Amino acid sequence: MANTKAYIITIGDELLIGQTIDTNSAWIAQKLNALGIDVTKRVAVGDEAQAITHALDAALTEADIVFITGGLGPTADDITKPLLCRYFDGKLVINEAVLQHVKDIFAKRNRPFLERNMKQAEVPDTCTVLFNPMGTAPGMLFEKDGRMVIAMPGVPFEMMAIMETAVLPMLQERIKSDAIVHKTTITVGEGESFIAEKILDIESALPEHIKLAYLPSLGTVKLRLTAKGANITSLNAEVLHWQDKLVTRLQDIVVAREDISFEEILGRLLREKQQTICLAESCTGGYISHLLTQVSGASNYYKGGVVSYLIEVKENLLQVAETDIVNHGAVSEAVAKQMATGALKLFGADYSLSITGILDKEPVKGEVAAPGTVWMAVSDGKQTVAKMFRFFHDRQRNKESAATMGMLLLWKFINGKLTA
Ligand code: AMP
Ligand code: MG
Repeated sequence: MANTKAYIITIGDELLIGQTIDTNSAWIAQKLNALGIDVTKRVAVGDEAQAITHALDAALTEADIVFITGGLGPTADDITKPLLCRYFDGKLVINEAVLQHVKDIFAKRNRPFLERNMKQAEVPDTCTVLFNPMGTAPGMLFEKDGRMVIAMPGVPFEMMAIMETAVLPMLQERIKSDAIVHKTTITVGEGESFIAEKILDIESALPEHIKLAYLPSLGTVKLRLTAKGANITSLNAEVLHWQDKLVTRLQDIVVAREDISFEEILGRLLREKQQTICLAESCTGGYISHLLTQVSGASNYYKGGVVSYLIEVKENLLQVAETDIVNHGAVSEAVAKQMATGALKLFGADYSLSITGILDKEPVKGEVAAPGTVWMAVSDGKQTVAKMFRFFHDRQRNKESAATMGMLLLWKFINGKLTA
């Protein structure tokens, strides 16, 4: 079966100058993919009539459904609505339901309703209104020659709300596509070529309609199986069968059988073991604590953390010896280990992770460690293991890398896979 083709046009000058990152397309693409709709092109254009018209012309020659986000606001820079109205030979009329909704929103926010705001309730008389439960600008559906154009506001949560409540249910009903099933397996500690070598025979035995993708990132490789076919139940069973084969072959390095974050993986492990952790963070400034507490139920295993940024805090709160800081520097094996044992005492957890480093590219005055050096330690009170890492990017990326490697280190330690 030939799948339905979709095209996504995102509109806004802010997208072209890089002020806003286009997250709308990625989100829409994921949702469409799950429905078996193929996104064949994504483009971004400015708030400029000719550019929008050209993009629309091109889209309608190739795609069955065109998704548009952005440019629906009430201000002069947003021109998508009048443009679409002309494009589909309509005229703007007040939609009573939208008007009432807009007035309700203003009343709820205690804001005066201005004449300009009437415009927000205007829609082309050639469209079907897609109700926006999260904001004033409604979405619009135009249909022409068997093709659909769906326009939505640029604000991500408004676009998502319209998609979830109006667009996706409608598409599910109307579009008959092959089903798509994805299943992700997460591995740690080995590179993609090593993995490819180990599963060579399994990969080459995969049937035509099941594909395997390798998605490497720092410390982990995700293996995504994707199957397309008419029957979703049998696809699910097939993909599971092939995932079982991969997991059995790679059992030493598999950490999850679904696409979840590392903080969730760590959380599941700790809940399973009914054990707790605590942190002593210097250069990551509490970032690992933030990540861990993004997972609901983290209070079952995360006791707390110290952001011991200054030397005095390392000494006073975590009992790091002043002589070691003087002799080895704050970014050193000795200090990382004492931070870990100090945190463990302070919080009374089963395990601790400490992290101290220099995230910048430039040397730090009075610090012997080279830029990008990060020392981490993990401890369970009986054993304390420290590791050194070097990161070579900017501050932000180095912080993220350090956080990931820290959680990975803890995961290995808890699983008895970390040797001193
Ligand atoms: P608009 O509907 O054009 O008034 O867009 C309102 C706001 O939504 C903009 O200021 C952006 O911050 C945001 N936005 C617009 N387009 C996108 C997009 N493609 N991805 C993420 N955010 C967007
Ligand atoms: Mg805009």
